[in-house]
Amino acid sequence: MTWQDDAGRDLVKSFGARMQMFVRGEGSYLWDADGKRYLDFLAGIAVDSLGHAHPVFVDAIATQAATLSHVSNYFATPPQLALAATLKRIAGTGDSGRVYFGNSGAEANEAAFKLARLHGGAERPRILALTDAFHGRTMGTLALTGKPYMQEPFLPMTPGVEFIDSTVEALEAAIDDRVAALFVEPVKGEAGVLPLPEGYLAAAREITERHGALLIIDEIQTGAGRTGEWFAFQHEGITPDAITVAKGIGGGFPIGALITFGAASELFYPGTHGSTFGGNALGTAVAGAVLGEIERADLVRNAAERGAQLRQAIEAIDSDLITGCRGAGLLIGVGLRHPVAKALVAAAQEHGIVINAPNDETIRLVPALTIGDVEIDEFIELFTASLRTVEDALVLDASTGLSTSTEVPA
Ligand SMILES: *Cc1c(COP(=O)(O)O)cnc(C)c1O
Repeated sequence: MTWQDDAGRDLVKSFGARMQMFVRGEGSYLWDADGKRYLDFLAGIAVDSLGHAHPVFVDAIATQAATLSHVSNYFATPPQLALAATLKRIAGTGDSGRVYFGNSGAEANEAAFKLARLHGGAERPRILALTDAFHGRTMGTLALTGKPYMQEPFLPMTPGVEFIDSTVEALEAAIDDRVAALFVEPVKGEAGVLPLPEGYLAAAREITERHGALLIIDEIQTGAGRTGEWFAFQHEGITPDAITVAKGIGGGFPIGALITFGAASELFYPGTHGSTFGGNALGTAVAGAVLGEIERADLVRNAAERGAQLRQAIEAIDSDLITGCRGAGLLIGVGLRHPVAKALVAAAQEHGIVINAPNDETIRLVPALTIGDVEIDEFIELFTASLRTVEDALVLDASTGLSTSTEVPA
């Protein structure tokens, strides 16, 4: 029996076939069971901020596990209070901010959805979200996710959510005083690393404020320094009513949070929300250590600088396949001229790099925030070789009439 047989028989079918089985990681590298090494530029989908098996991460887990892991939310613990204070500080909430802890991005957005309902009450039943944005897979967050093919098998959705294009004009046209909240994903990762138009967040802040609606920003993929600021909204210098975080905050430990600003911090009252595991001592100690290391090693700046360096190096590759790069910091989308993203991901795996394709014509690069010259140089060499493999296959296709393009599983 192979691991593929085991996975095919025992794991839920919603993910499709696993591409590889990894047994070990260190820094930006992964190893499979045969001892082959891979350069990891996916980092567990923007999760492994410090790379794999970082000593700070390992030590935080071991030390906290040996001290106190979980006592329930009837009680406070020092790492929980410390992480809440850190998140408030780096998000810039000031004293009036508050933090709700969950265990994933979806749970953070579920909390934000409930926050919007508490704010809206009966007078504001409408919630606006952006077409193509991704907010999660639970029934509540799926209702916020403007992708009909994802919703369709699970209809009916939680009512009240309307989808609008990511333009200021569309927002102006849709909003009124019956809107409780606007949900925004600042760089649409799953949709192909699509940044919002410049100035959108600032305009959205002004428009939502004018109509008494909350501005809720999903920073689950963009947060924890990934875009070259702690959070993507900070590039536009605005103050939202709430943000949600997860992925990179825990550096590989599952944790999510809703961070509220100002008056939105007073909406939840006792009994309106909760979680057994959310914010336990183990998870918050690890996230606190991860954020502490991001700060100590100046990795937010590294994300900005290495992101620019990586984009430049990719755009300098001599390949007709690449149309250009988009994104911010170390959240980079590489546009492709043909729908060959899945073939390129497979070729890259052969050449020893782990990358991902959010759609047929985009490669998403979200490496650890710790990368430097060595990783970037090696990536460019292996990515160039992978591009050559796909280009050669395209030439072959053209001569045989076959197709290299394949569908990317959602
Ligand atoms: C990953 C992601 C989510 C969902 O997070 P999970 O931890 O998978 O539930 C929500 N929003 C955005 C923008 C994401 O990238």
